[in-house]
Amino acid sequence: MKQLKKILITYQNIVFPLTCACCGSSTSEQNCYLCEWCKLDRFEKAGTDPGSFLPERIRFFFSMWYFDKGGYLQKLLHDLKYHHLKGVGVELGECLGRAFLNNLDSSIREEFALVKPLLVPVPLYKSRQRKRGYNQARAMAEGVARVTSWPVSREGLIIRKKNTKTQTGLNSHERENNLSGAFEVTDSAELQDKFLILIDDVFTTGSTTFEVAKTVLNDEEKAGILTVAKA
Ligand SMILES: [Zn+2]
Repeated sequence: MKQLKKILITYQNIVFPLTCACCGSSTSEQNCYLCEWCKLDRFEKAGTDPGSFLPERIRFFFSMWYFDKGGYLQKLLHDLKYHHLKGVGVELGECLGRAFLNNLDSSIREEFALVKPLLVPVPLYKSRQRKRGYNQARAMAEGVARVTSWPVSREGLIIRKKNTKTQTGLNSHERENNLSGAFEVTDSAELQDKFLILIDDVFTTGSTTFEVAKTVLNDEEKAGILTVAKA
C-alpha cells in the first residue's frame, strides 16, 4: 500500500509538478500547473478593447493580460510552444475563459443566446504542429471550452496552407502580406450561422486573427477574438 502511494505521488508530480510552470515557485494546489499568484495577480490585466481598429464583423476583441517583453509571460508562452506543455495551455485557456465571461458585455451575451459560439483556434502549419506535438492555440481553446461549454471546431476544419515565416520584426503591412491567403476552410457549411470566437496566444497587430477571420467569415457569420496576451 505504501509502495502504491509512493508510485502515485511520483506519477502525480510528473503530470502536475508541484512547482509553477511560470515562475518556478512551489504550488500548494493539486492538479494545477500554475500558482495562484501567476494565474490571478502577476500580470497586468488587459481586457476588452473598444474595437475601433477592428475589421467589420469582428464584434469584440478580448485579451487576458498585457504581454511582458522579456518577462515571465513571454517565457511561459515560448515554453508552451517548444516544450510540449499542453496541460499549461489548457490551464491558461481556463483562466482566459473565466476572465472573458466575467467581462462579457451584455449585448454580446444576448447575441450568444441567439447564436451559439464556436471556438476556433488559429491553426498551425502541418509540419510545424508535428514538430511541436500540438497546437498551443487549440490547447487554450480546449481550456476555454471547459469553462464556457462552447464547442471547439474540429481539427482540420480550418487549415494553414502556407508555411509563413515568423512575424517577428515585420511591420503591420508586411505581416498582412506574409499571411495573405495562408488559411483555408475545408467545409464552410460547418461554420454557417455561427458566432466564431478565434483563439490565439498573443495578439500583436492582429494580422493573424484578422486573416483567419477574412477566410472564415461569409455574409452571415460574426466573429470575436480571444487571446491570452496582448503585445
Ligand atoms: Zn507562478
